[in-house]
Amino acid sequence: MRVPVSIPDITSDDVKAVRRAVESGWVSGTSPIVSEFEKEFADFCGVQYGIATNSGTTALHLTLASMNIGVGDEVILPTFTMVATANPVTYLGATPILVDSEKDTWCIDPEKVREAITPKTKAIIPVHIYGHPCDMSQLQEIAFEHDLLIIEDAAEAHGAEYKRKKVGGFGDASIFSMYANKIITTGEGGMIVTDDEDLWDRAIWLRAHAFGRHGKHYRNEEVGFGYRMNAMSAALGLSQLSRIDYYIEKRRLDAWIYRRKLTSLEESGLITFPVERDGYKSVYWMFSILFNKNFPLSRDTVVQRLSEKGIETRTFFHPLHQLPMYENDEEHPVAEEIARTGINLPSGNATTREEINFVCQSIMELVR
Ligand SMILES: *Cc1c(COP(=O)(O)O)cnc(C)c1O
Repeated sequence: MRVPVSIPDITSDDVKAVRRAVESGWVSGTSPIVSEFEKEFADFCGVQYGIATNSGTTALHLTLASMNIGVGDEVILPTFTMVATANPVTYLGATPILVDSEKDTWCIDPEKVREAITPKTKAIIPVHIYGHPCDMSQLQEIAFEHDLLIIEDAAEAHGAEYKRKKVGGFGDASIFSMYANKIITTGEGGMIVTDDEDLWDRAIWLRAHAFGRHGKHYRNEEVGFGYRMNAMSAALGLSQLSRIDYYIEKRRLDAWIYRRKLTSLEESGLITFPVERDGYKSVYWMFSILFNKNFPLSRDTVVQRLSEKGIETRTFFHPLHQLPMYENDEEHPVAEEIARTGINLPSGNATTREEINFVCQSIMELVR
């Protein structure tokens, strides 16, 4: 058996939708299919406007650029995240300020955000890591007190909820990724959602080279981007979006099965499960566990042994302050600890019940 860590679920309806888009001949990002996808996705999030892009990374870059974040500005984000949360800040000449996570949710710690604020701070980027929402009330309170912008990095968390409201609706703007392994996919792609009409207008303009307004097409007046999503991607996204509730429920059920099958390891303190706090709804982008000190094998040996059985896993993100581009001598003990002990188990839209059973059985055998 070969068990991939995550593969997308592409149905024959998806294929038909993409085929229709390409056969229409209107394949560029100006196709009405793209605006339809933007509208439907924004509706799904309960937000007014959507702006489709060609990746989650470019969605974040475009958002920050539209907010005029640049040289001399500081942006606070968790050190425990994918590198794509920090890179767009760097592209703009601003400085990512890295802070630690909460021990239970692995999400950005609001107390650490408070401590990191300086007169240069312009924005906070909370990341709903592995599909679990951040503590948005506290972050909104901090942002309000210090007049900061919030950009949710919801790349892994389409449909996750905080106090019964979907993520994407808490920030001044939020970004999503539609990469192949995310909650829904467009192959490569991203989306900004916002309720701010001016921000929407500016982002749409900057997304495609800031073409001149008032009929002066080639009088571009700012350095814009080539970040549009193409029509085939949007068609795939629309088709996938029609099944998103199913994918979310499936992922939650898979997480429940993992917990049930591995519960004896957790009860004996050998592993730690991800939490789902009261009032939060996780979409379990990756079902992840931590191997505690008394687990008989090291985390890296577990990865190796599972791989020998054909089971693909991922170790956790390296904290950004330990990567060469962002290296510093700060200590972020929570991020360092979870990064050292955590793995993502197979958890894709196409992961089967048999695969999950096999993974759990293989982990149980490692302990015996
Ligand atoms: C996937 C991801 C991104 C980037 O998305 P791409 O579509 O791959 O550019 C950004 N942030 C986080 C937290 C992610 O997981």
